[in-house]
Formats: sequence, C-alpha cells, structure tokens
Amino acid sequence: MRQTLVAGNWKLNGSKESIQTLVKGIADGMSGVDGKAVAVCPPYVYIPMVSELAAGTGIAVGAQDVADQESGAFTGEVSAAMLKDVGCQYVIVGHSERRSLYCEKDEDTAAKYVAAQKEGLTPILCVGELLEERESGDTENVVAKQLDAVLSLAGVESLANAVIAYEPVWAIGTGKTATPEQAQEVHAFIRGKIAALDASVAEKVQILYGGSMNGSNAAELLAMEDIDGGLIGGASLTPDAFLAICTA
Ligand code: PEP
Repeated sequence: MRQTLVAGNWKLNGSKESIQTLVKGIADGMSGVDGKAVAVCPPYVYIPMVSELAAGTGIAVGAQDVADQESGAFTGEVSAAMLKDVGCQYVIVGHSERRSLYCEKDEDTAAKYVAAQKEGLTPILCVGELLEERESGDTENVVAKQLDAVLSLAGVESLANAVIAYEPVWAIGTGKTATPEQAQEVHAFIRGKIAALDASVAEKVQILYGGSMNGSNAAELLAMEDIDGGLIGGASLTPDAFLAICTA
C-alpha cells in the first residue's frame, strides 16, 4: 500500500511574513490530515526558516531545484548537500518551468536526480507533455523519453527512493485539470513501463498528479488506482486551499 503524498510547490512566491503565516496555517490543520504525507517546497532562501517552523509538525520540506554539481565554481547554484544541511527531504527535478524557461534537457534533469539521491534526498521527478504533444497522440512517447533519461543514468532500482510527478504542461497553472481518467491512463502507463523492468519498484513508487489540482477536484483524482498524491502549485499558497487537498 503506497502512502499518499501532497507536496506544495511555492515557486517564486512569498516573503518572510507570508511564509510564516502559511506554514503556521498548514501546521494548525495537520491534525485533520489522516495518513497522508505532506511536504512544502519554498524558494531556496526561505528553506532554513521553513525547516524550523515545520519541525515537529509533520510537514516535510523540499526544494524546487538542485545543482547537478557537488561544489565549486558554479555561481548561483545550490547543491544537494546544502539542501540536506538546511533540512530538506525532497527536491523537485525537471519541473516543466525549468525545462521550458531555463532550457533544462532530459539529461540535465537526470543528472540533478542523481545528485539529489547521492545526498539522500528524495527527488520528485516531473514528467509531462505539452498540449500539442497530447493532441498529436505523443503523450506516452514524451513521458517515456523523460523517464528513460533517468532510467539509463540511475537505473530502475533508483525509483525505489524517488517520487514521480505526472504534470501535463497544459494543466499547470491554467485551471484546466486533466480528468481523473486522463491522468490515470498516463499514471498506469508510467507504472507499467517501470513494472516491465522491476515489478516491485513499480508497486512501490509514488506517482503524483500535478496540474490545477484543488479542493474540488482532488478527491476524485486521488481515488484513481495509480494516483498516489499531488504536486500542487497555486493551491499550495494558502493554508485553506492546500489543506482542502491534504484532507480530500
Ligand atoms: C505545478 O507547477 O507543479 C503545479 C501543479 O501548478 P498548479 O497546481 O498551479 O497547476
């Protein structure tokens, strides 16, 4: 039985004041969250503060990206060891905004995934197709190629210590959610692809859905057989909206 994980991706949002309010608000509602794991991914600079605020609340902390290098002359980068040092358990890799706005390639994402695991962080590996790729029937090919980059660099066994987030790009921040059936179809494809290599890893790996998930659509998405939680953008920025998903 896989545990459900709800992870908030705060992106480039927040201030010391608003983030304190947000973490306290989520922490206050954690008693109503039954059996699900909950994580938040603040901007880098707020991670130490959030780690302190979240200590003892049951809220885990993650980052939104990580360097593929360990240390050295890489201006602007933050390593997996640094993230671990300030209390991170998770790190998102390959988010579609990194891929589209910062030209991150499948191979770059795979290198970040490996760097994260090397330090004991759990990567949340994002995969997903563009609207035109879905419309041309290419969804499975795109997702398979994104997964293959990680499988060939890290091996299928690495997925036993990772989370996958299926995030159709057309659903991110658009208010246009995939239907439970559309999402389940891709989740089942992902699990089936992994099962062809290692059935026990496929049974274990958590596959989250991301893309305009909110308190109104979460329950039916989370009820699908292969949907093991959510990666939440917009709705993770207020305690009520986020907790509505955590308690769905
Ligand atoms: C995301 O960016 O990972 C995401 C799922 O965003 P939203 O929930 O706002 O669509």
